[in-house]
Amino acid sequence: MSALAPLEPRTLRICLLPGDGIGPEITAEAVKVLAALGERSHVTFTFDEALLGGAAIDATGSALPVETLDAAEKADAVLLAAIGGPKWDTTEPDKPRPEQGLLGIRKALGLYANLRPVRIFAPLLDASSLKPEYLTGVDMLIVRELTGGLYFGARARERDVPDAAGEGRPGMRAYDTMDYREYEIERIARVAFDAALTRRKRVHSVDKANVLETSRLWREVVHRVAADYPDVELIDQLVDNSAMQLIREPAQFDVMVTENMFGDILSDEASMLTGSLGMLASASLGDGTALYEPSHGSAPDIAGRGIANPLAMLLSVELMLRHSFGLDGAADKLGAAIERVLLDGYRTRDIAGDGSIVVGTVEMGDLVIERL
Ligand code: NAD
Repeated sequence: MSALAPLEPRTLRICLLPGDGIGPEITAEAVKVLAALGERSHVTFTFDEALLGGAAIDATGSALPVETLDAAEKADAVLLAAIGGPKWDTTEPDKPRPEQGLLGIRKALGLYANLRPVRIFAPLLDASSLKPEYLTGVDMLIVRELTGGLYFGARARERDVPDAAGEGRPGMRAYDTMDYREYEIERIARVAFDAALTRRKRVHSVDKANVLETSRLWREVVHRVAADYPDVELIDQLVDNSAMQLIREPAQFDVMVTENMFGDILSDEASMLTGSLGMLASASLGDGTALYEPSHGSAPDIAGRGIANPLAMLLSVELMLRHSFGLDGAADKLGAAIERVLLDGYRTRDIAGDGSIVVGTVEMGDLVIERL
């Protein structure tokens, strides 16, 4: 994983993938904030916008046009908003789907590690569906494997297949395969243990080793890697238990490492600790260009109304400044500005509570810039 050296004046090229739904609205706020940060530093950010997801299907017939991949590969980092929406929902296997763009770009850029920090902003304690006393001390990092497992294994749909006993009742059959190689588990485990070393030195490895063969291999490999990190405590946890523990006692977690689909589900669950899906950022890292995106989807139910919460997108920008550009000072400044806006009582509708001042997407971006 590469990080550019900080200091001397430089130009950083960001590939923007606004995608669908609220994507363009929150992307505009990210661009505004990056431009403002650029004015206050020695860095100039330049932007190349490309199509992904439903917007790309409409324009080119493909959810991931070659021009988009080309722009992403040439950039210093990629900032993706969200893709998808009812317009492109289909169960027909041969029709293009927006998610193919998302999965395709992750695979093409080799983004095997998805980092999702779950951070509780004190002013938002009352926005969570959990009581504040359960949230004290919550500060976790979910490390999700992103290019393997069920989402990338062999899959098919077959017609006129007899039932399992071969007794007739022919019908459709579909299957997806959870498939993991040793090296895929090893490299994601190392990301988790390295992260734990800089934090509270505890890793929960989440699997389903009582049932799944992939999970038994997962457990073996994670334990082998753990031997290289004697200062880090390793705890195995079954995924069904983790789903419960996240609600029962979320503060027990420091770093949680898990396979692709378990991580997808558990990170949405964990987002509710923060009060809203609109508050959770993510970084997808590999050996080349990294990609940053909020954890939420394209929220078609509120698209075009100017009420989307841009903070998960801005927190993704914070991760980009830190991980891809080594601009920790600018990242700290942005994080502090977001916290200040929340402390001052401003909220978008999804996180609004009693006594808060409700603002729209654009105003929220302006308020953050004022506090940079
Ligand atoms: P979603 O995350 O888009 O929305 C879930 C709920 O959260 C909605 O009520 C929405 O209004 C709200 N919400 C989400 N982000 C918000 C924000 N920033 N501000 C305020 N409210 C916000 O999930 P969904 O409704 O299940 O999916 C909608 C579409 O998004 C689907 O097409 C799905 O495939 C796609 N999706 C894309 C991604 C991605 O691009 N990474 C991730 C998940 C879902």
